[in-house]
Amino acid sequence: MLIFAALTNNMTKTRITVAHGDGIGPEIMEATLRVMEAAGAQLEIETIEIGEKNYLAGFTSGIKPEAWESLDRTKVFLKAPITTPSGGGYKSLNVTIRKTLGLYANTRPCISYHPFVQTKHPVMDLVVVRENEEDTYAGIEHQQTNEVTQCLKLITQPGCEKIARFAFEYARAYGRKKVTVMVKDNIMKLTDGLFHTTFDEVAKEYPDIENESYIVDIGAARLADTPERFDVVLLPNLYGDILSDVAAQITGSVGLGGSANIGDNFAMFEAIHGSAPDIAGQGIANPSGLILGAIQMLVYIGQPEVAENIHNAWFKTLEDGIHTGDLFTEGLTKEKVGTQGFADAVIARLGQRPKTLPFMDYNKDSAKKIQINIKPKPLMKKELVGVDIFLDWNKDNKNAKMLGDLLSQHSVGNLELIVMTNRGVKVWPKGNPATFCTDHWRCRFTSKDMDQPVSYQDVIALSQILSEAGFDIIKTENLIRFDDKIAFSLAQGQ
Ligand code: NAD
Repeated sequence: MLIFAALTNNMTKTRITVAHGDGIGPEIMEATLRVMEAAGAQLEIETIEIGEKNYLAGFTSGIKPEAWESLDRTKVFLKAPITTPSGGGYKSLNVTIRKTLGLYANTRPCISYHPFVQTKHPVMDLVVVRENEEDTYAGIEHQQTNEVTQCLKLITQPGCEKIARFAFEYARAYGRKKVTVMVKDNIMKLTDGLFHTTFDEVAKEYPDIENESYIVDIGAARLADTPERFDVVLLPNLYGDILSDVAAQITGSVGLGGSANIGDNFAMFEAIHGSAPDIAGQGIANPSGLILGAIQMLVYIGQPEVAENIHNAWFKTLEDGIHTGDLFTEGLTKEKVGTQGFADAVIARLGQRPKTLPFMDYNKDSAKKIQINIKPKPLMKKELVGVDIFLDWNKDNKNAKMLGDLLSQHSVGNLELIVMTNRGVKVWPKGNPATFCTDHWRCRFTSKDMDQPVSYQDVIALSQILSEAGFDIIKTENLIRFDDKIAFSLAQGQ
C-alpha cells in the first residue's frame, strides 16, 4: 500500500472524460471512481452527459457538441453503459463514438475465476479482439420494396489489415501465444473472405504467434463448449459483439467483462454489458466490468501501478467470497453485497495480494500503446463488365419467367440480361417453380461471357430504357473486374 502511495504521489494528473450513462451506469460509475480514487489514480475528470436524456431532449445522436469538445481535449473516455431507445430515429451512440473517434479495436478479456466464481469453464483465459468500425455496423439500411429491407455489410482492406495487425501485436505485447480468426467466408466470400485472406497475409509476419481459423458457427460452438482452447480470438464486428457477450457470460456473469476501444489517437473504456434497465436503481449491479475497463484505462494512460493495485485487490475480494447478486452461489458466496458494498470491499483490500488467483503484474512494458501503421495498397486495374439492376416488381404473381422474358427484350451495347435472382437464388433462365419469390429482383446485365468491358454510359442508357418501359428501378450495382478477376459474387445456381 505504501509503495503504491509513494509512486502515485509523484504522478502528474491525466485528464479524462467520464460519462455516467443510463440505467445501472451511474451506480457502477460511482463505485468505479471511488475505487480509483482510493487507489491513488491521478485523474482530472471532465464529466459529460450522454445517452437517453439527450436522445429524449431531441439530440438524436445522443450526444451534445460540448461533449465532443471534451473528448477532443482529453482523448481518453471512461464510459458507463447507455440505453439506446429501440425503434427508428435513434442511432446507437456507442457505435457513433467508436466510429467517429476511429476506435477500431475492441479488446474484451474474458477470464474465469475458478474456484471463486461459479462457472462451467474453470480453465478459461481468452481475449476477444472485435473489429469495431465496419461490417453491418455501418448502419446503412434501406427498405427497398414493399416486402424487402437491406443492410449493407462493409468490410475494407485497411480495416481488416489494421485489426489483424492489432490482434497479433496485442498477442505479442501481452504474452499470448495464439490468434484465432472466425469468419463466415464459405458464404460471404468477398467480405468475410477479405477479412480471412488479410488475416492469413498478416499472420505470416508473426511466426512467433500461432494462428488458426474457424467458420464462425462451429467456432462459436467450440468457444461456448471448450473456451480453454482459445487465446486471442479475432472477429469482425457483429460476430465479435455476440461472441464477447457469450464469452463474458460463461466466465460466470456478463457483469465481469471489461472492454477497451482503442484507436490511433483516442481510447474509450467501458464494461461489455449494457445499462441493465431491469435492475437499475436497486444498487445491486456488479461494478466489476467497468472496474476492469478502468484498469485497462489506467494501464493505457501510464498508471500501471494503480491498475495493478486495483486488479489484485479485486481478485482478493472475489477470493474472499464477496459477491454481488449475479455471482451469488450457495456455498461459495461468503457475503452478498450491493454495488457500493462491493466497491468498499475492493477498497478495503487495496495493497493486498490474491492467494490463489494469479498476481497481476502490470510492468511498464504492458503500458506501451499498440500503434499500427499500414501502407496503402497499390491501385488495381479496374474494369466495368456489367451491372446488376435491382427492380421492385410484383406483377403476375411475381412470375419470374414473365419478368425475365420482358427484360431480355432490352439490351444496350454488350449489356444483355444474363441471369435474374430473387433473394440471391437464380430464378431466370430456367428457375425452379418451387423457389419463393418476393417483389425484389436482381437483374444481371453483362456480355454473354461476363468478360467484355462495358461503359458506364451503357449502364445509364440501359437504366433509362428500362425506366421508360415502366420498370421500377431500386438501385444499380456495378460489376467490376479487378486485376482481371471477377470481383462480385455469382448468383446461387448461376
Ligand atoms: P444488458 O447487458 O444491459 O443486460 C443483460 C442482462 O444482464 C440483464 O438481465 C441485466 O440485468 C444483466 N446485467 C448486465 N450487466 C449487469 C451487471 N453489471 N450486474 C448484474 N447484472 C447485469 O443488455 P440488454 O438488456 O440487452 O440492453 C439494455 C440496454 O443497454 C439497451 O438499451 C442496449 O442498447 C444497451 N447497451 C449498451 C451498451 C453500452 O453502452 N456499451 C452495450 C450493450 C447494450
